[in-house]
Amino acid sequence: MTVASEKNRDEVRAEVRAWLAEHWNPGIDAREWRGLSVDAGWACPSWPEAWYGRGLDRALSQVVAEEFTRVGAPAGGLDATSSHLPIELHIGGNVIVTLGRDSLKRRMLRPILMGELRGCLLYSEPGAGSDLAALQTRAERDGDEWVVNGQKVWTTAGFGADFGLLIARTDWDQPKHSGISYFILPMDQPGVEVRPIKQMTGEAHFNEVFLTDARTPADHLIGDLNDGWRVLRTALAHERVVMGSARGPGVDDRRLPVGATVDLIELARRVGKNDDPMVRQALAELYSLRRVISWNAERAAVAAGRGNFSPAASLGKLAMSRVLHESAGVASALLGPGGTLYGPSVPEAYSSNTSLMMAFMNSIGGGSDQIQRNIIGERILGLPKDIGTDRDVPFRDVPKAAARREFGRAEAEHPGS
Ligand SMILES: Cc1cc2nc3c(=O)[nH]c(=O)nc-3n(C[C@H](O)[C@H](O)[C@H](O)COP(=O)(O)OP(=O)(O)OC[C@H]3O[C@@H](n4cnc5c(N)ncnc54)[C@H](O)[C@@H]3O)c2cc1C
Repeated sequence: MTVASEKNRDEVRAEVRAWLAEHWNPGIDAREWRGLSVDAGWACPSWPEAWYGRGLDRALSQVVAEEFTRVGAPAGGLDATSSHLPIELHIGGNVIVTLGRDSLKRRMLRPILMGELRGCLLYSEPGAGSDLAALQTRAERDGDEWVVNGQKVWTTAGFGADFGLLIARTDWDQPKHSGISYFILPMDQPGVEVRPIKQMTGEAHFNEVFLTDARTPADHLIGDLNDGWRVLRTALAHERVVMGSARGPGVDDRRLPVGATVDLIELARRVGKNDDPMVRQALAELYSLRRVISWNAERAAVAAGRGNFSPAASLGKLAMSRVLHESAGVASALLGPGGTLYGPSVPEAYSSNTSLMMAFMNSIGGGSDQIQRNIIGERILGLPKDIGTDRDVPFRDVPKAAARREFGRAEAEHPGS
């Protein structure tokens, strides 16, 4: 299923083939090639022509990606649904290109496309995860800059990031969803302290980020002042498209049509369970789910590419969470008692157990499964909205925020008391 017409697909295919025939050379320097692809608009063809794209429908990026892959050339159709992109490109690049100011686009888009900048998401706070609109990090205008104070948590890849996609409160007199703004924050500055958080796999992909008088230029505001919630919804839609893609984090249905890190069909054969009807049913179900997810992801990506918030992205993300948990469960069942071992000396069990733990990445990160169910219920099924008693109250009067502000004032007046 695709949204683009056959005629357009053929035209684009012919155009990209002709361009590749003229320019691609397997011996070319990787950086030089990436620059050629970026400047010709093939790296993200759905972006506007004025900003390194070709203004194509997002579904056609897949055609570009296929043609680049066919000749073995990298960096084509990076915005295709099938791409698993880093944060800076699939969220940062998309948000800046759709809602950023021109001066910011000029400074950041090409370095992002060239892979020269790393990004992270500064959304969650200790008191604001699912209820993200309860965030208390503040940004205050000071001349040509914004000054940011607060704490963020669960920041994937915060360490080493060049910029953060930040949401902060800019008006405490408006209700919680209305007084928020979205910024790009330079991470390499004295006011930004990044600390690692160790996760259950033993690695530390996460960070806590402490912001103390951190600064960002005025034109790093994305969208309008106090309209950050709308920007955030677009950004989350892009994130959920990738997390709900059949080739999103941890999964690639071209490499493994059934299974996340372990090829489950191959594993079932090896342990002699490929004739077991229960195993066959589980594998067929996983395969079917993956196909449906990839079609759904294409639908959601087209909407997100046009700057629309599509609840279809939540369907894919929720379904992918199920695939990842079930795949890991099937792998454990196939491995039997040996599947309980953990460590590099037992690679199959190690990989299966790591997948089991990493499956929670999809079911919590980018909004938990329960929150996706709420979105689907409210926006697709038309069910009544989740009860919220603080929605229309000025944020400074919401008890949690008021307490924190009072504490801040007391601290300023009587430090250390
Ligand atoms: C792998 C991973 C990567 C992440 N990366 C980032 C990142 O880069 N940047 C960032 O800012 N954040 C990141 N996060 C944080 C993530 O967005 C939050 O953990 C998530 O939104 C849940 O918030 P919370 O942890 O505060 O849990 P809570 O919001 O406290 O939720 C606790 C439980 O209550 C449920 N719940 C809460 N509210 C409702 C409701 N209204 N209806 C039904 N159930 C509800 C939740 O589903 C959950 O099960 C990441 C998390 C993970 C796991």
